[in-house]
Amino acid sequence: MDYFDSHCHLQLSQFDEDREAALVRMQEHKTGGVVVGTDYAMSVAAVELAKQHDFLWAAVGLHPNDNADELFDSPAYEKLARDPKVVAIGECGLDYFRGGGTFEEKTTQRMRFEMQIELAAKVGKPLIIHCRDSQQRIANITSAHEEMLNILGQRKLDIPVIIHFFTGTGELAQKYVELGCYLSFPGPITYTDMYDQSILDTPMDRILSETDSPFAAPVPYRGKRNEPSYVDHVVAKIALIKEMDLPDVAAQIVQNSQKVFGVAG
Ligand SMILES: [Zn+2]
Repeated sequence: MDYFDSHCHLQLSQFDEDREAALVRMQEHKTGGVVVGTDYAMSVAAVELAKQHDFLWAAVGLHPNDNADELFDSPAYEKLARDPKVVAIGECGLDYFRGGGTFEEKTTQRMRFEMQIELAAKVGKPLIIHCRDSQQRIANITSAHEEMLNILGQRKLDIPVIIHFFTGTGELAQKYVELGCYLSFPGPITYTDMYDQSILDTPMDRILSETDSPFAAPVPYRGKRNEPSYVDHVVAKIALIKEMDLPDVAAQIVQNSQKVFGVAG
């Protein structure tokens, strides 16, 4: 394995036309990956897909504001989570960008998230966290990241915690690193220098790479559908920012991924 996509959604309908071709390209690029669930049906689909390929694994969980009506059914998710192909719980967390505008919404998100923390601790598998803030900073209101840092700081979990799609400041990166988290960097780092500092501030042994495909394609595919085989562009940009050789950075990220998710290859 040369590359690892810690977060993709290959089970979504955007891949219905050419999923097999995308998987072949992934294999050609010697890329392993985690197919991430966003609700129960998508988690089941992630596990099914992972079972068919030895370079794929799955994460099962309920996104903070996808499928808002779904109640987190712990026993059902636990049954899925115990599958050997499942290497993480998520994506779960807090999203005040698309929701969480009211106290009630915030409480629901927090409750869903807490249940998934419990499940991850119970089955002893890593947590994949989605955390996104509303666009404007509202005075005296705790931001999603502040809330997340508080929750993780209080919990002191002994399972790996991955902050997926990390696009925060260097200061925020350092706070997560201090808590022991891994930061997974996505496609947008290839077309802006806004995240260079957070990459510089994250030690190499805490960095993961992801596509979040079909969303957020890196340059040179910006604006097109994303897919796991494009993760090499994300890794190349990390190497450039870190002023390190690409093969060394790629190997370190694969090693980090294998350690975090407990996968071989
Ligand atoms: Zn995602």
